[in-house]
Amino acid sequence: MYFKLGRQSVARKLFDEMPIRDVVSYNTLIAGYSSCGQAGIAREVFDSMSERSFVSWSAMIAGYSKSGDLDAARELFERMPERNVVCWNAMIAGYAQNERFSEAVKIFRRMLQVEGMKPNEVTLVSVLSACANLGALGLGKWIHRYVERASTRLGLFLGNALSDMYSKCGCIAEARKVFDEMPERDVISWSIIVTGTAMHGLWNEAIACFHEMLQQGTKPNDITFMGILSACTHAGLVDDGLEYFDRMSREFGIDPKVEHYGCVVDLLSRAGRLDEAENLISSMRVSPNAIVWGALLGGCRIYGDVDRGERAAHRILQLDPDHSGSHIYLANAYASVGKLEEAAKYRVWMREKQVVKTPGCSWIEIDNAVYEFLMGDRSHPQSGKIYAMIRSLAPRMKLAGYVPNTSLVCQSIDEEEKENALAMHSEKLAVAFGLVSTEEGATIRVVKNLRVCKDCHDYMKVMSQVVAREIVLRDRNRFHHFKDGVCSCKDYW
Ligand SMILES: [Zn+2]
Ligand SMILES: [Zn+2]
Repeated sequence: MYFKLGRQSVARKLFDEMPIRDVVSYNTLIAGYSSCGQAGIAREVFDSMSERSFVSWSAMIAGYSKSGDLDAARELFERMPERNVVCWNAMIAGYAQNERFSEAVKIFRRMLQVEGMKPNEVTLVSVLSACANLGALGLGKWIHRYVERASTRLGLFLGNALSDMYSKCGCIAEARKVFDEMPERDVISWSIIVTGTAMHGLWNEAIACFHEMLQQGTKPNDITFMGILSACTHAGLVDDGLEYFDRMSREFGIDPKVEHYGCVVDLLSRAGRLDEAENLISSMRVSPNAIVWGALLGGCRIYGDVDRGERAAHRILQLDPDHSGSHIYLANAYASVGKLEEAAKYRVWMREKQVVKTPGCSWIEIDNAVYEFLMGDRSHPQSGKIYAMIRSLAPRMKLAGYVPNTSLVCQSIDEEEKENALAMHSEKLAVAFGLVSTEEGATIRVVKNLRVCKDCHDYMKVMSQVVAREIVLRDRNRFHHFKDGVCSCKDYW
C-alpha cells in the first residue's frame, strides 16, 4: 500500500521489521519496487531470496520490462528453472509494451510450438496487440480461431483486442463482426469501431456509429472524439466537426488535448478557413505543438497564404528546428516572392542536413511470418528477386502514367521526406516482395511506420492497376486501399 502512495521507505521499514518474512512478503516488495521503476533495488531483493516462486520471477521480469530493460528481462527469463503461463505473459507483454512487436510474436511461437504451453486470455491480448501493430493478420486470425475452438467467452479485453487487431489489419468488417458478437461493450469497444471506420474512409459509418453509441447510453471519451473528428476532417465536414469539438467539452466535460486541436485546425485549414484556424490556435488551453502549426501550414500552402505560412513555419522551427517541411516551405515561399537569398538559406540547410529522424520502415506478413523492410533495403534473402520485380514492372508503370517524383522541391511536408528522396522507400520494397511471394490476384497488405509520401502514393495507385491487385497500405495516419488505379483516401491524407 505504501508503494502506491510513493512511500517506498515506509514500505521497506515495515518489511525490515517483519518478524517472519515469507516468499509473499518478498514478492510484494519486488512488485512494489518494480512498479515505481526501481528495477535495480527489486533485483537486490530478488537476489537475496533463498527460495523463489513463479510470482517472484514474473514480478522481476515485469519490473525490468517496465523500466525498458528487455535484455535483462529476457536473461532472467531464460535462467528460469521452470516457467508457468504467468511468466510467459510477463515476457510477451514486456515486448509488446516496449513496441518490440516482432519479438513478442516470436517468443509466443516458442511458447506454443516448442514448449507446448497453453496461452490464456492475457497472453492472447498481448499477442493481438503485437499483431495489430505489425499488421500480422494471419497470426491474428489464427488466434481468433483458437479462441473460437476453445469456446472462450469473448470478454471485454479479448473482444476489444480482437476487434482492434482486425481494424488495424485493414479488415473493418471483421472488426465490426467481433464487436457485434461481444456480449458486453465498453467505451473502448465503441472507440475502436468509430476510429477504425474513420481510418478506413467510411466517414458516414463512423458518424452513424458514434450516434448509435450515444443512443445506447455509452459516454464517449477523448479517443472516441479523436475518431469522430478525424472522420469529419477526411470527409471535409467542417461545421459538423466544429460542432462535435464544441460538444466534447460542453456536453461531456472532456478537455480537448493537443491532438484534438490539431484535428480541428487541420479541418479548418484544409477548408481554407485560415483565420479561424489561426484564432483557434491562439485560444488553445494547451500549448500548440509542431503538428498543430503544421496543419495550419498545410492550409497556407494549399491556399497560397504566404504571410501566414511564414508565421506558422517559423513557429514550427522554434519548436522543432529540424522540421524539414518548414524549411522546404520557406525555401519555396521565399523563392516565389523573389527573396532568393533567403530561399537559398533554407535550401542549403536541407541539403546539408539530411537527418533521418525516424527511419521509414514497412512490414508485410507472408505465410504467418512478418518481414521488415527499410529504405533501400538489400538485406532480404530474396532481395535480388524483389529488385528484379521492380525493374521489370517499371516500363508498364511508366506506360500507365506513373512519373517518378524525386525532386526535393516538389516534396510536400510529409514526414516521409526525412527519408532520402532518391532511395527506394520501404513500402515499395514490401509491396514488391508481396508480389513475388503471393498468388496472382491476392491482396497485398503492408504496414508503414510513417506517413506515405506523395510519390509512393502515386506509385501504389498505378501499381494496383498494372498488376490488377488490391494493395492495402496502412500508414501512420490511416488506411489506403489502392484498387484499379485509385485510392480510398481520394488523395486526401
Ligand atoms: Zn515514399
Ligand atoms: Zn491514399
